[in-house]
Amino acid sequence: MLNKILIANRGEIACRVAATARRMGIATVAVYSDADARAKHVQACDESVRLGPAPAKESYLCGDKIIAAALATGAQGIHPGYGFLSENAGFAQACADAGLVFIGPPASAIHAMGSKSAAKALMEKAAVPLVPGYHGERQESDFLRGEADRIGYPVLLKASAGGGGKGMRVVERSEDFEAALASCKREAISSFGDDRVLVEKYLTRPRHIEIQVFADTHGNCVYLFERDCSVQRRHQKVLEEAPAPGMSAERRAAMGEAAVAAARAVGYVGAGTVEFIANQDGSFYFMEMNTRLQVEHPVTEMITGQDLVEWQLRVASGEALPLRQDALRIAGHAIEARIYAENPEKGFLPSIGTLARMRTASAVEFRLNEAGASQAAAVRIDSGVREGDAISPFYDPMIAKLIVWGANRDAALRNMARALAQYQIVGLATNIGFLQRLVTGAAFSQAELDTGLIERHHDALFPAPAAPPMEILAFAAAAVLTEESTAGNSADPWSSTHGWRMNGKLLRTLEFADDAGASTLQMEYAGNGSGCTLSSGAQSHALRIESVRDGAFSITLDGRLLRADVVREGDWLHVFDGRAQRSLRHVDPMAHAGHSEAEGGRLTAPMPGKIVAVLAQKGSSVGKGAPLLIMEAMKMEHTIAAPADGTVEDLLYAVGDQVAEGAQLLEFKAA
Ligand code: ADP
Repeated sequence: MLNKILIANRGEIACRVAATARRMGIATVAVYSDADARAKHVQACDESVRLGPAPAKESYLCGDKIIAAALATGAQGIHPGYGFLSENAGFAQACADAGLVFIGPPASAIHAMGSKSAAKALMEKAAVPLVPGYHGERQESDFLRGEADRIGYPVLLKASAGGGGKGMRVVERSEDFEAALASCKREAISSFGDDRVLVEKYLTRPRHIEIQVFADTHGNCVYLFERDCSVQRRHQKVLEEAPAPGMSAERRAAMGEAAVAAARAVGYVGAGTVEFIANQDGSFYFMEMNTRLQVEHPVTEMITGQDLVEWQLRVASGEALPLRQDALRIAGHAIEARIYAENPEKGFLPSIGTLARMRTASAVEFRLNEAGASQAAAVRIDSGVREGDAISPFYDPMIAKLIVWGANRDAALRNMARALAQYQIVGLATNIGFLQRLVTGAAFSQAELDTGLIERHHDALFPAPAAPPMEILAFAAAAVLTEESTAGNSADPWSSTHGWRMNGKLLRTLEFADDAGASTLQMEYAGNGSGCTLSSGAQSHALRIESVRDGAFSITLDGRLLRADVVREGDWLHVFDGRAQRSLRHVDPMAHAGHSEAEGGRLTAPMPGKIVAVLAQKGSSVGKGAPLLIMEAMKMEHTIAAPADGTVEDLLYAVGDQVAEGAQLLEFKAA
């Protein structure tokens, strides 16, 4: 058995690998960039080695520095995690050449599956079913357009070297082909350093079903069943579950055997995933093989009771697979939600900042017993960040993976809804509210799964902002009153001097605002020190603060005892009532003038990034929605569009320029 490994990754996956290594008595070495010097993964390992500055190209992607660190610390093997160098055949080979065990497949298998095009050619030979398309060498625009015309629209353009949902474009009509190809190639070269693409038929209402495979060096290869990862946005997975709803035993065996055939065709060793795209009738086609551990591997661990990292370490140490196919069983149902620092309402733009507060559901230990039964519910949180840590623009903005288990899908769903409701994050935007709507919505609850689910249910998932309910306003009011009395060194929130007396009564107005608009409350102190009356419009409510400790409020509103945590962040009050987060801006006429609302009209960079295309000319008139600039940030392209009909008065940046978050990009005058 290996006795010391280096983990060539960061974040949750580095922490997750370290946890299994520790349990198995294997020593661990972390590597880190300057941005991560105090990161959780560094503390999760026994030793650590600095790689370089924050950008991945100067740190986590420097294979030579990583190999040198392994040799210097006496590590025998390198676990690459996912992303970064995990699917880099050159790195796997360099490890082998340096006498280190690459904890993954042989370089030849990575290479064979590395190009989506070449992999398809191999799979064709192994009789694994493929989506109709063109995956050859020719790359001229006219030729590819001809192929697309032949296949029939819609078609999907994919970067041959792509991954992570990047470098893909759906093309609806022949006229749009050229522009889509240019954009796809641009993203492909900047993300993968290779602009070759393939064209395939774009299936309507497909499901993404993938099979976990595992092979050892003794010729054994098994499948650990499937994961359904159909719920995606921009071709990136949002929710993953196992087993796939509606999967028959025959189909499971057919897909499992096709996946094992795919792995065997490339001499696979270790953990791998064969991704299929499936029609609603169950027919399935090979998409690609990911030659590493997947982000969503925990759902497979939960339904099989196996630790896949332990399997990886055993296989890398030369042992045979721990179990044979006929000893593997599915127990219950597991669902994973990816919790991201991002803004779903703004096109899922990543959000950058510090996790000023992060509270979560508590993890519930999970162990399947011999009979494959567990407790009624389990919760696992895999995270690489702690409260106080930052989500930076340098790496993937994932905060955590929330994984739950239940005896069946309904139980798992309830467990997921409960765990999401307990999340409290302040400091940056997250997708938690969106995930809650997704998980509790009819489509996902009823397992009407396909990759278009989010778009099809757009209106339900992105509801128009509604005015906050009285309960939430009451907590916000209670928080403001408490802060004022604390600031005035008074233990009694009702002795406030804010406000004015009219006919002997102390009255004041409180105003809160959010996307739904302003909410104004009239407050009248009861005078006997026991509470107040809050009125909004014609309705009056009796409010009393029962207790406050560390932001945890108990209030009585119209005789009902309610509890919530309230966290202030600048002008904002975040109320967590155990069901959802509701954020209100306290509009305080006594304080500074508040935020300018004029920002909407300025064309500013939504995040730090690079200008990759300037589509408008100085002085040109454009219509509302016309694309003006394309920025690349976090390896994704973001189009800056005209907010209204108007004129581009000046362009402030050129292609290749780096821009800071909030930088004005161009001068625009609305007509
Ligand atoms: P990546 O390597 O970037 O993850 P994949 O080839 O695995 O790219 O595809 C990612 C997702 O894109 C799939 O899960 C599916 O939702 C969608 N997709 C891929 N190919 C097709 C297709 N031919 N038709 C429809 N959707 C597709």
